[in-house]
Amino acid sequence: MLIGYQNLETAGKVRDLVLVLGDQLDIGSPVFDDFDKKVDLIWMTESSIEAEYVWSTKARIAIFLASMRHFRDSLRRKGFAVDYHALGDEKVKTTLASELKLAAKQFRPRKLIVVEPGVWHIKEILKKTARELGSELNMRRDRYFYCSHEEFGEHASERTRLRLELFYRKMRRKIGVLMDSDQPVGGVWNYDAENRQNFGKGGPGEIRQPMSFRPDRVTRGIIALVEKRYADHPGGLKLFDWPVTRKQASAALEDFIENRLVRFGPYQDAMWAGVPYLYHSRLSNAMNLHLLDPRDVVAAAEQAYMEGRAPLRSVEGFIRQIIGWREYIRGVYWRFMPDYEHMNVLGHDLPLPPLYWTGNTDMACLRDCVTQTLERGYAHHIQRLMVTGLFAQLFAVDPHEVHKWYLAVYVDAIEWVEMPNVLGMSQFADGGLIATKPYVATGKYIQRMSNYCVDCRYDPARKTGDAACPFTTLYWDFLMRQDKLLRRNSRMSLQVKNADRLDRAEKQLIRKEADALRSRLLAEQGRY
Ligand code: FAD
Ligand code: SF4
Repeated sequence: MLIGYQNLETAGKVRDLVLVLGDQLDIGSPVFDDFDKKVDLIWMTESSIEAEYVWSTKARIAIFLASMRHFRDSLRRKGFAVDYHALGDEKVKTTLASELKLAAKQFRPRKLIVVEPGVWHIKEILKKTARELGSELNMRRDRYFYCSHEEFGEHASERTRLRLELFYRKMRRKIGVLMDSDQPVGGVWNYDAENRQNFGKGGPGEIRQPMSFRPDRVTRGIIALVEKRYADHPGGLKLFDWPVTRKQASAALEDFIENRLVRFGPYQDAMWAGVPYLYHSRLSNAMNLHLLDPRDVVAAAEQAYMEGRAPLRSVEGFIRQIIGWREYIRGVYWRFMPDYEHMNVLGHDLPLPPLYWTGNTDMACLRDCVTQTLERGYAHHIQRLMVTGLFAQLFAVDPHEVHKWYLAVYVDAIEWVEMPNVLGMSQFADGGLIATKPYVATGKYIQRMSNYCVDCRYDPARKTGDAACPFTTLYWDFLMRQDKLLRRNSRMSLQVKNADRLDRAEKQLIRKEADALRSRLLAEQGRY
């Protein structure tokens, strides 16, 4: 429906059709650089096929739709004409391409303008649709990122192996953040080694919980829509309190800097049962939807350091995630797609165990992380990497299935950031483009970094037997299964040597128990 500027409804009156995709919700976007309210029309759609591309949690669907509708309303308040296609309760199927074709026929614009999408296949759909329509497609660079595709391409082509650390230093120098002329403030680039603390037996203590945003009328409307249209989708919406506007996202940033950044560094890898939000920022979704400019996030963190409100180890650790990992991951996605999606160097081919859709399991760590994920659409990095991700890898799940799960469950999941984190960092499916070695460990890692094992029926130190921790059994099985590949990786030599020390009978027993565990977990009930 078009509101305001009714004269634009007449075919032939629209000059440019300006497409705003669901993760481009910023009035400072390059599509508005030469926007003329008198003749240009904004076009937004909640197409069902894209919303249903994977079996998303209710929270993930709701956050996208609520943020889009708030942005639409803010545009209209500013006097922009917006042609907005909203999903209804009925399951009518629509696609981005079909909706766009209808709009192009109705308004007959001179050209289509859009910021480059964050998803490879959406970019292809737009190019194909424009070709079919015979329309000019003006695709503009996404200014929300520090590093362009060309710059990343140059960086990548200069070296045989890509590594985060070199890229990160380059970005620090380029941006000039936490720099003392061309050297890092404090004399070192990275405080990673100091930043791996657990909470000890006493736990995390009192943590000021992140600012919560009570759903307003628009968001409540979306919640009702999702509850009806996507009633059978996983997760719930009772706890939905995410920022869905620019103002809320800025408040969430301020709240993080004020209350949690100080301890972000040391405890970024720590986990604690029943406490879903520790010292992390919970800002990924706001940045990914363009409600929050990463530059503002980085500037606020640096400012906190300069004013003595947060220590360097926390500020550096946090900034590295944004100007380092976030940019690097995006660079890898666009450089290696579309082949990247199909990589599977470990040859894993099992389905995802149903517990990933229910949280029903006697493994305390997985129960906590999966339940929290389904209920809130959130888990922090180490929960994603070293609990759900690690288990899927040790279990030998087809990495593409793992990718589909991650894309479906997290409120911040958009393919450019989700896919390399899953296929590369967590599943080693890309053979080392992102990580230097597979992130594999026994249950002892989880025991060290959390209190999950305290109330678990399994023992992380045991490989076999009734009390053996499934992570530990599968870890040793993994080392044996992937022996050939791991021997070629010098960073795995210690682990390979440890596996060599197992005697024949123990190896056989581990294999047998690993197979039995797989059969048992795959036979459980749950959606797959
Ligand atoms: P914080 O811990 O506070 O970190 C600050 C910010 O740094 C984040 O908001 C995020 O923007 C950025 N960041 C941190 N780590 C990464 C990373 N590895 N890659 C890219 N950005 C990073 N992040 C997503 O935004 N979407 C995803 O779909 C996603 N899927 C992931 C899947 C797996 C298997 C793993 C291991 C990581 C994934 N991440 C993803 C990265 C990271 O886990 C989340 O960005 C982070 O947990 C979000 O919570 P936060 O905002 O509290 O982050
Ligand atoms: Fe997880 Fe194993 Fe610890 Fe249980 S014992 S919580 S399964 S790591």
